[in-house]
Parts: sequence; structure tokens; C-alpha cells
Amino acid sequence: MDVIGFIGLGNMGGPMAANLVKAGYKVLGFDLVEQLRSAAAQTGVEIVSDLVSAVSAADIVITMLPHGRAVVAVWSEALPKARPGALFIDSSTIDVASARNVHSLAAAAGFAALDAPVSGGTGGAAAGTLTFMCGGEDIAFARAQPILAHMGKKIVLCGGAGSGQAAKICNNMILGATMIATAEGFVLAEKLGLSHQALFDVASTSSGQSWSLTTYCPVPGPVPTSPANRDYVPGFATALMLKDMKLSQDAAASSGADTPLSALAAAMFAEFDQSGAGGVDFSGIIRMIRMGE
Ligand code: NAD
Repeated sequence: MDVIGFIGLGNMGGPMAANLVKAGYKVLGFDLVEQLRSAAAQTGVEIVSDLVSAVSAADIVITMLPHGRAVVAVWSEALPKARPGALFIDSSTIDVASARNVHSLAAAAGFAALDAPVSGGTGGAAAGTLTFMCGGEDIAFARAQPILAHMGKKIVLCGGAGSGQAAKICNNMILGATMIATAEGFVLAEKLGLSHQALFDVASTSSGQSWSLTTYCPVPGPVPTSPANRDYVPGFATALMLKDMKLSQDAAASSGADTPLSALAAAMFAEFDQSGAGGVDFSGIIRMIRMGE
């Protein structure tokens, strides 16, 4: 059975590594934070003292890190120490340029690589029901698939290097703009004396339907499991949505895509974040929209 080196044992990486242990893999884990190393050890991850020790004995290296700079730094240090034939997988959400950069670094060092960002949040990471969006060669995807299947339910190959990250940020750009449009719909309904439930009943079965409405409804009531019913405790925190909106706008700028609606959505999430709401669910932006009245 493959030995897995897992770098980054935070909110997502911790439970993902735990699911690999449950599936019977030997997982060598490393994080910069001592408290997270101890927490991962409790789930059966074998904690090693540094990055190189996690990588040099691994057949599969998985990184789950905060941003592109960290992924480039970790892969640059890890690749020269990796076992011949090892496969590198990055599941962080990062910019497409950094994703393509680490694919090139891996290829130059003779290693197969896959970008494999996820959706599904910390709940999906704990339950092993994440969606993986992958970019890379078919052969790397085929090798990664059975391992990713222990952490996720849906695993999609989107194309070549960086395509997983591209799919992730395009999806989340749609999500960010759709949530704001949905929130504006409810705020207008309030002004017009239309009940939340009436708008929901019509829009959820009409052309206004979306995931933001039917799963993450930004007002309490119509969807009892949405964060609006628990005072906008995330869920998906505004700071993470803002990160993804910024990545989408950077990608739009560098590729020459015109995305004015999403640019405005990104600016609105930045304003909401700056108001101290970074830890609030992103659907809570309806409060800022209401206050703008
Ligand atoms: P996190 O901050 O909880 O975890 C990242 C971990 O990486 C931290 O524990 C940090 O100490 C560690 N780290 C950073 N540099 C390191 C290094 N050089 N060596 C070893 N460890 C290092 O973040 P998270 O919520 O687990 O998210 C991880 C990634 O997944 C991010 O890119 C995020 O955008 C993405 N993501 C998060 C969610 C979510 O709901 N939290 C959902 C989907 C995708």
C-alpha cells in the first residue's frame, strides 16, 4: 500500500489525512503548528519532525496549504528529496499561475503532478464527501483517483495542468455573484411587502433557482439547514469567499476576461470582510445589503 506524505494539517488537511488513516494508509504528516500536529497524531497520522521526513519516505505527497506562495515553497523544498516515482497532489485553492508553476517544477524534477482543489468545506472533509476538481495528465489522475476516493465522493478530471484550479475559481466566482443577487432579491421582496417564503416558493421552482437559494438561502426559514438559521455561523466564511473572488479577478485580469459583475461582487465581499465579518458565513452579506437601504 502507498505511503502518503501529508503537508498542511489545518481545518481541511487534518480531517482529510484522518480519512486516509481510516482507509488503512500509513500517513506521514507535517504542519508548522504544533497544536495541529498533536491533533493529527490523535487520529493516527504519524507526525514527522520536518517537511523532508514526510516527503522522502512517501509514494504520494499531498499538500493542503493556505495559498500559492506556500505551495511553491513546499514543493520546491520537497521535490529534490522525493522518492523516485512519487506522485505530487496539491489540494489547496491557489492561483492558476502558481498551480502551473508547480506542475512545471515537478515535471522538471521527473515527477507526476495533479492539481486537485476541493469543494465541500470542513464538513465534507470530515465526512469524506469532498468534490475534487483535477488538472494534469491522465496517468497522474488514474493513479490519484483511488486515494482521492477515500476523501471525496466526486472526482472530476477537468483538463491539463491548472485546470482543476481554473474550474474551482470559475465555480466560486459564479457562487459569489449569485449569492449577492439572491440576497438582493430578498431585500427587494422585503421592501415590496413580499414574504421570504413566497419569494422562495416561486424562485426555487422558477428561473431564479440556484444553489445560493435552495441550499444556502440567505434568510432564515425557507431552508432550515442554511447558515441564516444559525446567525450566519459558517458554513463558508466570508474571508474564504473573498480569497476565491480575488483569485478569480486576478485570473480574469491576467487572461483578459471581462467580468464586471464579479468584480463588483469581489469589492462587496471585501467591504463586508473589512467590516469585521471575515468569520461570518458569506450569505450574511445580506445584512450589509439591507443596511445600504
Ligand atoms: P488552514 O489555514 O486551516 O490550514 C492550512 C495549514 O497549512 C495550516 O495549518 C498551516 O500551518 C499549514 N502550513 C502553511 N505553510 C506550511 C508549510 N510550509 N509547511 C507545513 N504546513 C504549512 O486552511 P484550511 O481551511 O485547511 O484550507 C486549506 C486550503 O483549502 C486553502 O487553500 C483553502 O482555500 C482551501 N479550502 C478550504 C475550505 C474550507 O472550508 N476551509 C474549503 C475548500 C477549500
